[in-house]
Amino acid sequence: MALQNHLQVAKLSKQPSSDKNDASIVIHGIQLDSYGRCLHYHTNNDIVALKCAQCHQYFACYQCHDAIMSHEFMPAKPEDKSVLCGVCHHIMNYQDYSQNSCPNCHHAFNPRCALHHEIYFES
Ligand SMILES: [Zn+2]
Ligand SMILES: [Zn+2]
Ligand SMILES: [Zn+2]
Repeated sequence: MALQNHLQVAKLSKQPSSDKNDASIVIHGIQLDSYGRCLHYHTNNDIVALKCAQCHQYFACYQCHDAIMSHEFMPAKPEDKSVLCGVCHHIMNYQDYSQNSCPNCHHAFNPRCALHHEIYFES
């Protein structure tokens, strides 16, 4: 008889006290402003949040993620909709994001984010 053992670890160190409403997207980070800019990245164009493939939550940047969570940021697949515009909350995949502006509200993104490409996306 085969014994299947499913172990699910879903323990978050700091879980926000929000009810389960998929319509409201929460961006996590340190010293966030209303557009999702954080302590680490806060120029005018640092408005995107990125989803970690392990905890499935959006973070202003990987440094915020690693400071809040007990695991390292896990990159998402490029085809996953893992990028969130902090201005209009439009969700996009890597290809949309790499156009360097939001396809919905046309706010420019920070082109220097491409330097951290392999942190946020599987290559
Ligand atoms: Zn994570
Ligand atoms: Zn940050
Ligand atoms: Zn937008």
